[in-house]
Amino acid sequence: MPAQLTDGVPLIDHHCHGVVAHDLDRAGFEAHLGEGPRGTFESPIGLAVRRWCAPVLDLPAHARPDEYLTRRADLGWREAATRLLRAAGVSQWFIDTGFGSSTADFEEVAEGEIHEIVRLEQVAERTVTELGASTTPEEIESALRDRIRNAVGLKTIAAYRCGLDFPIAPAAPPALPRARWTDPAALGWLVDLGARLGAEFGLPLQFHTGLGDRDLNLRQANPLLLNDFLHHTADTGLTVTLLHCWPYHRHAGYLAHVFDHVRLDTGLAIPLTGNRSHAVLAETLELAPFRSLLYSSDGYALPELHYLGAILWRRALARLIDEWIADDAITPADAETLIRNLAHDNAIRTYPRARRQSRDCAQQGHSLSSDRG
Ligand SMILES: [Zn+2]
Repeated sequence: MPAQLTDGVPLIDHHCHGVVAHDLDRAGFEAHLGEGPRGTFESPIGLAVRRWCAPVLDLPAHARPDEYLTRRADLGWREAATRLLRAAGVSQWFIDTGFGSSTADFEEVAEGEIHEIVRLEQVAERTVTELGASTTPEEIESALRDRIRNAVGLKTIAAYRCGLDFPIAPAAPPALPRARWTDPAALGWLVDLGARLGAEFGLPLQFHTGLGDRDLNLRQANPLLLNDFLHHTADTGLTVTLLHCWPYHRHAGYLAHVFDHVRLDTGLAIPLTGNRSHAVLAETLELAPFRSLLYSSDGYALPELHYLGAILWRRALARLIDEWIADDAITPADAETLIRNLAHDNAIRTYPRARRQSRDCAQQGHSLSSDRG
């Protein structure tokens, strides 16, 4: 029964990126099958592409890599992306537009509502580029206020820039205009600004935590480094969402356990760990309250990642819930509620603006505009 429930339930993918809008050769495709410079089909995610994505492109399961890529090229990137994104069964996509993609690009190939997550560092850097060396903190705040008018959430990549042990709520650094946005004081100020605006407008603040590419020092992306920040924001009305988390997903689950305003996901860890993804999900749910776990694919560049995030997450959850039912740890009725919460209701409660935009959209009977300025 859980497999049927998880197969059919619509997902809200609360953190993902756009897809590459051109055909890829084998090296170009494999480069995205991992976080290092050269991914490979010889990996759990490579097996998962062959097992689960091949049938979506009309190939037998486990098709060889070259067969898969030939078929993908015959269909063209657009048709392949349309099929894979549709097969994910996602009703709402929250796109991080801070890294090359726009919501309009994604809207061309995806079904479902599309919402925007605004990246703090991108707005700050763009403002300094546009206004020059005399840019003031007030001008950055004003640019950010303008930019978030239609967004459903904020995101920071402080983990990449200076690590998550940035100073808490420092005064705006005097060197702000020229500060490269790797300076801990500048980042601490910017994150505090994001936290204040997030609390004011009901916009959750997403943190990159855990695994990433080689630009990241993984040790500085441990969400436990956010302990003081979480104390500082605990009663401000801000919701903090911890993205990816692996291999610190247990640490993140603990933080969600002790801080009511923390949410988390297992993002890219699900497609990357392939057939082991049920273990990651099981470990995350050891301590994370059921209301705190959100779904995301962290799909980037390859629509295969958006699809694998969804299919593997559904299968992992079904497997876990099957075990719990077999152990008489949960009733089938409670399991049904839990699945719905993890798939979409937790996200709906976490992102009030997405809820409101969905309602407006339904009332007006049209899809969301992609023109968000
Ligand atoms: Zn991401």
